Amino acid sequence: MPRYDFDMITIGAGSGGVASSRRAGSYGARVAIVEESRIGGTCVLRGCVPKKLLVYGAQFADAFEDAAGFGWTVAPPKFDWSALIAAKNKELDRLEQIYVNMLKNSGVEIIEGRGVVVDPHTIEVAGRHYTAENILIATGGHPTVPDIPGIEHVISSNEALDLPQLPRKIVIVGGGYIAVEFAGIFRGFGSEVVEIIRREDLLHGFDDDLRVALAQEMRGRGIEIRTRTQVTRIEKDPREGYTVFTTIGQEISADLVLYATGRGPNTKGLGLDAVGVTTDDRGAVPVDEWQKTSVPSIYAVGDVTDRLNLTPVAIGEGRAIAETLYNNNPIKMDHNDVPTAVFSNPPIGTVGLTEEQAREQYGDDVDVYCARFRPMKNTLSGRDERIFMKLVVDGRSDRVLGCHMLGPDSPEIIQGLAIAVKCGASKRMFDQTVGIHPSAAEEFVTMREKFIRPQKAAAE
Ligand SMILES: Cc1cc2nc3c(=O)[nH]c(=O)nc-3n(C[C@H](O)[C@H](O)[C@H](O)COP(=O)(O)OP(=O)(O)OC[C@H]3O[C@@H](n4cnc5c(N)ncnc54)[C@H](O)[C@@H]3O)c2cc1C
Repeated sequence: MPRYDFDMITIGAGSGGVASSRRAGSYGARVAIVEESRIGGTCVLRGCVPKKLLVYGAQFADAFEDAAGFGWTVAPPKFDWSALIAAKNKELDRLEQIYVNMLKNSGVEIIEGRGVVVDPHTIEVAGRHYTAENILIATGGHPTVPDIPGIEHVISSNEALDLPQLPRKIVIVGGGYIAVEFAGIFRGFGSEVVEIIRREDLLHGFDDDLRVALAQEMRGRGIEIRTRTQVTRIEKDPREGYTVFTTIGQEISADLVLYATGRGPNTKGLGLDAVGVTTDDRGAVPVDEWQKTSVPSIYAVGDVTDRLNLTPVAIGEGRAIAETLYNNNPIKMDHNDVPTAVFSNPPIGTVGLTEEQAREQYGDDVDVYCARFRPMKNTLSGRDERIFMKLVVDGRSDRVLGCHMLGPDSPEIIQGLAIAVKCGASKRMFDQTVGIHPSAAEEFVTMREKFIRPQKAAAE
């Protein structure tokens, strides 16, 4: 008679929880997964997937515009927002069902309801107790908003993905990747977009040149970016719409206000404090390199640990636990050189160190190679948009430390280059690689001139 009901109980059926449970189940572990909402979590239902489908939808605007330069006559295109939302929802239902089937096929029991940790080996769902040798916390995160007057009028990314109608004008507050992605989506569909950011540039933490180049292109597409500005209050207009008041005395009217100013971990009311699981001041769960919390039988993965909040990272961490515990194959998730994308318009792909991070770690011996050019497609289309590429190289070892790109297909291109960076490729190896012609990507293997910043050049 087993000592516990299950070998592992996972709380949260999102990217990390599903990946870990499936993998553990496939190795014969007795696993249950608890979910209070729908199976699939943020990525499938409220994040990556629906967002990318809307990005694809918005990109058609460019295709219609660009076609004329290639001889096409396109009748004025019409767009039906509700048709897109219905198609997107149908796809999400399909994906959710696939997730359910994958769990069942791995022998994982699905328990519907909200899970609360009761002791190091017990959780409670709807008044019933379930025991397990190990508990995995994979409860993800939620959008957070500041406490300012009128905040009840705003929507978050959750609602933005499911609006009943397209806004004529939208104010987006925030400069992170979710904010710039929604700015691109709504602008692509023709909405007037005002983005309000508290800093000077978008995308804090990304390479500075990339941030500046993206803001330039977004402005070129008609997105108004108001920098060094904060919202003080939001008022509902007497008829419809809202007025946003800012620290610099502006009043901006819009029919929708979207806040994308941050996310917080889902640990409230989870019972962690009572069983001795440490959380930080934001409620995130610190874990060691094996994803263990301060209680040895309780593990945590994904956004609830608030480190690199990305789907492939949550999946990698979840699988590492299953391999370690149930396949006698101890694996630690490697958080270095994780490539990532911003599906802005144009999009960004990036891997490795930014120039600023490289200079902090490697000092002045950092070489930078940049290219900014108009892609071939834009010659006939007449689109005045440029691609930006950057390589950051350790001048001593010649190792490529970072690759950054802004422009069409950059997430696809950087995924390939991420392998080279992970393998420790040198700039010389990049130079020895033959380009694919004609492509934009070939520029990554043909950059020869070191980029010298004007102020540095003047000093030399
Ligand atoms: C708008 C948006 C766009 C994004 N785009 C990208 C992208 O392009 N690429 C990328 O890599 N990442 C993206 N992300 C981030 C990505 O979605 C997350 O990093 C990822 O989903 C984290 O997975 P997780 O398993 O930690 O949590 P989640 O996927 O959030 O899953 C947590 C699950 O736990 C459930 N839950 C919570 N508490 C309980 C409880 N007490 N009992 C039972 N169930 C509970 C929740 O209902 C949820 O289903 C995006 C996020 C957002 C919001």
